[in-house]
Amino acid sequence: MAEKKFMGKIHEEPWEALAKGPREVFGKIWQDYLSEVLQVSPQSERYKILRREIEQAAGFKEVYDSWNTLSPESRAVAWRRLMTVSRNQLLERGASCVRCGQCCEQGSPTLLGPDLGLFQREVLNWNDVYTLRSGEPATSREGKVTPLTEERLKVREVPGSRQCWFYLAANQSCRIYEDRPEQCRRQNCWGEPAPASGPEELLQRVHLFAAVPEIWELIREHQERCDCAKVAALLSDLGAGREAAGDPLFEALHFDHYLRQMLIGDWELTPEATDLILGRPLADFLRTLGVNAILTPEGVFRLEPLQASA
Ligand code: SF4
Ligand code: SF4
Repeated sequence: MAEKKFMGKIHEEPWEALAKGPREVFGKIWQDYLSEVLQVSPQSERYKILRREIEQAAGFKEVYDSWNTLSPESRAVAWRRLMTVSRNQLLERGASCVRCGQCCEQGSPTLLGPDLGLFQREVLNWNDVYTLRSGEPATSREGKVTPLTEERLKVREVPGSRQCWFYLAANQSCRIYEDRPEQCRRQNCWGEPAPASGPEELLQRVHLFAAVPEIWELIREHQERCDCAKVAALLSDLGAGREAAGDPLFEALHFDHYLRQMLIGDWELTPEATDLILGRPLADFLRTLGVNAILTPEGVFRLEPLQASA
C-alpha cells in the first residue's frame, strides 16, 4: 500500500498548531492524520480496529491527557512517536484482514474450486451451503439484479439478512476463520477489489455429486424438469393467456415439491440439504417473479399474484 503524506487539513502549519494548541487541536490533527494514512472510511469497522490498535500501542491516551502540560519539545517527541508507531502498525497490518467482520455482514461467500476440500475435511456440510441455480436472480457488485448464467454454491445467510451464517456478530468473529472459503481469503478491502471470479472457478454440484450416481441422476432430472429459465418462460406464457403453459408449469412445481418431500421423508435429509441438492424450492423462485405458489390442503398448487396474497 502506497504510504500517504499527512498534509495537515485543519492548519497549514500543523507543527505550529501542535506546539501551541490545546489537546482538542492535537486530537483533531491526529484524527485527520489517521483518516489520511488508513485510507478507509472513519465509519468503517476496519478503521476503528486499526485506530484502537495504533492508539494502544502508541500510548495515545496518556499523551492526550497530559498534552496541555507538555512543553513544545515534549509535544514534538510525542507526536513523532505516534507517527512512527502508526507507520509500523500500518506496515504490519495495513495490507491484511483485521477481522472486522464488515464484509461478513454484507454477504456470504460463493464457493470456488479450492473449497471442495472444506467438504472433504467436514468444515462445511450439506446444511451450510445452498445452490443458486442458473436462471435465478442474483445481485451483482454494482447492485444490479440479473438472472444467473451459471449455477453457484453459496454459504447460507442468517435468515432475514445478508450476514454470513458463520459470522458471530456478538464477538465479531468467524466460526471457521482458519478454514474460511477462498472468496473470503481474496477479500481485499484495503486495496483494489479482487477481480470477480470467472465461471470456470466456481464450485458446482457436479463437483460434489457426480461421483454419487443416485444423487447426480436426481439432480439432472430435476434440472431437466424444473429449469428456472423454462419455468419463467412458462409463467410468462401463462400470464399472456397461453393456457397450454399451465400443465408443464404445475408439473414442475409438483415434481420439485414432492421430490423434496421424498428426500426428507425417505432419505432422512434435512430441508437445508435439499436446498443444496436441488437448489431452493421452485415456489421461492416464483416469488421472485411476483407469483405466490400456494399448496392447498389437497396437496396441489395454485398460483396467485404476490400482491393478492400480501
Ligand atoms: S476483509 Fe472483511 S473482515 Fe477483513 S478487514 Fe476487510 S472488511 Fe474486515
Ligand atoms: S466464512 Fe467467515 S470470513 Fe467468510 S464471510 Fe463467513 S464469517 Fe466471514
